[in-house]
Amino acid sequence: MSERPSVAIVGGGFGGVGAAVMLLREGYEDVTVFEKAERIGGVWNANTYPGAACDVPSHLYEYSFAPNRWSRRFAQQPEIRAYLEGVARRFGVLDKIRTGTEVQSARWQEERGRWLLETSAGPYEADLLVPACGQLSVPKMPPIPGLGDFEGPAFHTAEWRHDIDLAGKRVAVIGTGCSAIQTVPAIQPEVAQLDVYQRSPGWTMPKNDYEYSPRQRAFYKRLPALHRLDRARIQAFQNVGAAALTSQRWMLPIFRAVAQRQINSAIADPQLRRKLTPSDEIGCKRIMLTDDWYPALAQPNVEVVTERIEAVTAAGVRDASGVERPADALILATGFASHEFVAPMEIAGSGGRTLAEEWGEVPRAYLGLSVSGFPNMFLLYGPNTNGGTGSVINTLECGIGHVLVALAEMERSRAKRIEVRREAAEDFDRELRAALEKTVWHSGCSNWYVDENGNDPSNWPWLWSTYRRRTSRLDPAAYELSGATTTVAAGALG
Ligand code: NAP
Repeated sequence: MSERPSVAIVGGGFGGVGAAVMLLREGYEDVTVFEKAERIGGVWNANTYPGAACDVPSHLYEYSFAPNRWSRRFAQQPEIRAYLEGVARRFGVLDKIRTGTEVQSARWQEERGRWLLETSAGPYEADLLVPACGQLSVPKMPPIPGLGDFEGPAFHTAEWRHDIDLAGKRVAVIGTGCSAIQTVPAIQPEVAQLDVYQRSPGWTMPKNDYEYSPRQRAFYKRLPALHRLDRARIQAFQNVGAAALTSQRWMLPIFRAVAQRQINSAIADPQLRRKLTPSDEIGCKRIMLTDDWYPALAQPNVEVVTERIEAVTAAGVRDASGVERPADALILATGFASHEFVAPMEIAGSGGRTLAEEWGEVPRAYLGLSVSGFPNMFLLYGPNTNGGTGSVINTLECGIGHVLVALAEMERSRAKRIEVRREAAEDFDRELRAALEKTVWHSGCSNWYVDENGNDPSNWPWLWSTYRRRTSRLDPAAYELSGATTTVAAGALG
């Protein structure tokens, strides 16, 4: 081991880039980020569909250490990707990132106390492994009969075909989640006919998006405290939202009333209104923020189809009532394989046991970060770190902060191996599952958080401030540090 540990990070999205910056700022120079795509950005590189934008206000959807002068309240995909690239450049981590390099596997070598990565560019060894692969990076293809028979272009929102001109075409969109509600209003004005296939509707709230005026931008520039104040205000509101979805569900009717009002005021047709009004509790599916979804659905060239899809045919989509609607292009806004976490990468820990074997049916990790049997490994945006509200960048910074605390403790105690104790991880998991039971996500709708057996490997059932507090320290009872080394300078972090 060199004087300070080397760190291999898998994934060049907000997690991986943030980890590289924060590690470098603490003096960890030997950091390498592997990104399989040719460009960094993670989901903000992959999701280029028309209308792609953030649904968290930008003043919160940014690193706390890199406030940005955003052009609008909710930034759009190109601006967010450019921001991330700018951060990587500004904080000097661009040369730490190996784009176009996929990590196929990572194996813990007990005798060497290091991770061995097999990458598309050859093997690589590091002391610490930080998978930062995201939860929403593997597009989910729906198991609809005949999907392969469709003769026109069919593509997922996360794999948008920019070579296909949709102008004047008949387009079918399957799915009505966060991606669909952004792309449908963006393409509706140009297509001839848009059939939106809805399996179950989700609740929405007004987004109140707007472009910042030059005056507002100048204001935030001159008075950065205002930017911080706005950030704190959004964070406080998101924390209230998190409480409403988890332990304080008595607040939900207030949110529901706002949501119902949005439908009622945008949709005049009572039949369409009925179709679009969810029957499940607000927040069970992710609450979607939008200003233009309902106005788009009310346009004469749009039909919301609520009949079950029976099959995709060569020329269109046939519903269960036997009606076949022709389509020139088919867009799958059907979400992501959200419970795969590090897949398709294979990670093998102590004794060669893989993470997939360890997890079985339900991925779990202590604070979403550490798995017993997988020393010197910290997952970012790991199991149960997603929230129904809040900014994932906050979560990532908390996780990276935990990695830094762990590294500092390793240096202090001259250890070169850190592993969460199995009993501590199991105690945490029991506490987590009990809290999840009370949340709205388990109230019986279909959402991407909970699997078909009712297991939830996705969500954090407490407040965001709780995650920050719990990750900000290293519980000595939870972790085992071992393998004293003479090569690490004790107390180097002060
Ligand atoms: P999603 O929320 O999982 O929505 C998938 C949609 O496809 C749902 O309407 C689902 O119906 C439908 N669907 C799935 N399989 C189907 C099938 N076999 N037949 C018919 N319909 C099917 O996926 P998403 O819209 O891509 O969003 C996923 C997550 O990504 C979001 O919750 C959010 O966290 C994130 N996201 C964020 C932003 C942002 O602005 N920051 C933008 C986009 C996405 P059911 O509802 O009935 O299951």
